[in-house]
Amino acid sequence: MKKNLNQLLTNDSASATGSFNILDLDMAFSIIDCAEALQTPAIIGIASRHFDDIRAPLLVPSILKAIESTDIPVALHLDHAAPQQFDMIKQALDLGFSSIMIDGSLLPFEENIDITQKVVEISHRYNASVEGEIGGIAGEEGVADTQRDSPEHIPYTDPIEAQQFVAATNVDALAIAVGTAHGIYHSEPHINFDVIKEISSMIDVPLVMHGATGVSDAAIQNAVTNGIRKINYFSGLLQVAMDEVRSYASQSNDFYQFKQLMKKQWHKLITEQIELYANLPVKNINRQNNV
Ligand SMILES: [Zn+2]
Repeated sequence: MKKNLNQLLTNDSASATGSFNILDLDMAFSIIDCAEALQTPAIIGIASRHFDDIRAPLLVPSILKAIESTDIPVALHLDHAAPQQFDMIKQALDLGFSSIMIDGSLLPFEENIDITQKVVEISHRYNASVEGEIGGIAGEEGVADTQRDSPEHIPYTDPIEAQQFVAATNVDALAIAVGTAHGIYHSEPHINFDVIKEISSMIDVPLVMHGATGVSDAAIQNAVTNGIRKINYFSGLLQVAMDEVRSYASQSNDFYQFKQLMKKQWHKLITEQIELYANLPVKNINRQNNV
């Protein structure tokens, strides 16, 4: 069932929904299969930086068919569209994306409000939701490389600005800077749970945390307890795939068999993450906390 973020995220319970970016249909189907098995909602993301390269206009009809054929609520989300990518946003809405993220966080505050307002106006006409961002999250979205900007150098989102931004733009979800970063961490990040708690007490829209790969289970659950309702996870999916490449390449040349093993790894990892965010009892043992 295709849903937008308004229909899928709730502030009623202390749980968050996983948003996983994809590069191909195998990744998209893995997310739907895992969500179905756990009977939880899920979000499939396509990062703006991958949109053309993975030929999103050709992939999306198949993904939407899979979404329509399941009873589980699933959103199809354009991740980190930049202010200059307004044409891509329109294309995504025409293709049937149910959710758009406009990332104007690098702009001055007033300009971020202006572009976000514009994206909200057009997206709501399509019944699609909009995630905005203020504060700026370190590292580059969609790049699994070890992140170069230290998260400590990025200021946390100012709660008063968050409140003003939501009131001015009418966004449906808000990504905030709380100490996480895109990519792979050098060391365990320090998440500011007080900022999450304060912002969630001041605004009604669900809060989003990006850069979950490498954050400890305890920190993720603490972030959820304090008000995070959507968690973006991507780099870990690339990391387990590369681990599989390395261990399998020396043993066999059977690419099909390799793909099966890789899908198994994605399945295991996505299941673990969904269980963690939803505060479900985590079934898997020997968890790799730091992937
Ligand atoms: Zn992000």
